[in-house]
Amino acid sequence: MDGNDILALGLGVTPPWKLVGQRLDTSTQPNQLYLEIAAARGALFPCPVCGKACKAHDFAEFTCRHLNFFQHHCYVTANVPRTDCPEHGVLRINVPWAREGSRFTLLFEQVAIMLVREMPVLAAARIIGITDQRLWRIVEHYVTQAVERLDLTRLKAIGLDETAAKRGQTYVTVFIDLDRKHKPVVFVTPGRGKDTVARFKAFLAEHGGAPGRIVEVVCDMSGAFLAAVDATFENAAVTVDWFHVVQMFTKAVDDVRRSEAKHSKLPKALRWAILKQADGRLTKAQADALAELETSGLLTAIAWRIKEMLRWIRKAESVQAARWRITHFLRHASQLLADDPVLDPVRKALTSFDNHLEHILQRWTSAHSNARLEGLNGLFQAARARARGYRNTTTFATMIYLIAAPLGDLFQST
Ligand SMILES: [Zn+2]
Repeated sequence: MDGNDILALGLGVTPPWKLVGQRLDTSTQPNQLYLEIAAARGALFPCPVCGKACKAHDFAEFTCRHLNFFQHHCYVTANVPRTDCPEHGVLRINVPWAREGSRFTLLFEQVAIMLVREMPVLAAARIIGITDQRLWRIVEHYVTQAVERLDLTRLKAIGLDETAAKRGQTYVTVFIDLDRKHKPVVFVTPGRGKDTVARFKAFLAEHGGAPGRIVEVVCDMSGAFLAAVDATFENAAVTVDWFHVVQMFTKAVDDVRRSEAKHSKLPKALRWAILKQADGRLTKAQADALAELETSGLLTAIAWRIKEMLRWIRKAESVQAARWRITHFLRHASQLLADDPVLDPVRKALTSFDNHLEHILQRWTSAHSNARLEGLNGLFQAARARARGYRNTTTFATMIYLIAAPLGDLFQST
């Protein structure tokens, strides 16, 4: 075994291909190592369509980027033939060390994907020495292929939620399998609202699933979503998840606080105290601000008290108990609501709550934990961070799939 044989092993080069030369170009920084591959003279090559061994028609030189060789950038150069198949004519063959159309070797792509599974794409691109746009193209190729292989034959309970790829714009909607604890994402699509439900329906059909087999859907209470979900999944019980109920009231409280802050002096810490998750830990200043709020005559205090009653409702142990508590809640809330337009956001939230009551109550009969959608927020944050620097709906969706979809082996050949 000589030096060329050792390098050939690392490349995965098999007969008739052979590593025939190597050249280090020291005129560039970093230096570039060229590995030259050639086939034995007179060798036959498989037709890319039928695999029949054919004579070479002609050759052209192709170069792929390979893994760095220590500090040197490394390239593989080969004269790649076109076969002349009696049945399929003259076609360029696929080489065993790179996939069709790629300017990188398979080994390079595997290492690239390995890094991207562990760190932001931008950081991985720096380590392997290519631009992040190029790395994204590699990642998108493998993720798209793996997503095409997803099997949704047994899918019967889904949750869906939307999130912004960038602050306040360019949304994606994510569909999860409620029966999967790990890697639950089954579909990610740009946009929000009813069109995304139609796209999911088409995707489901292409992946062995059927809308009629979906027995449960958990989502937020946006009207467009709910109407589309009801129409698409006729056998499904639709649950508005509690997380979105709390979120809606929290936003209403904050809206009241904001308009009230225009003419009354409110403690600064109040904003975050209100926005914090119901069970989050408060700082001393935030706890003080809330205590002060409780005793104040502010309208924000009324909004807050109404929102806090949600905790009491959630603890109901049966759907009957919940219905009873909600009836009390709605009556008590309307008594608390002073006749002031500043409280309109709370009025609106209560109306919405009342309108979607049956879907909200569904959580007490649902077989699936509603905490699942809440957990998606952590995933969205992670995907946003990993796609930093080059984030749009496509890269963001790709990253969500990569982190949280059951993609299996990305290099499985199709
Ligand atoms: Zn052929």
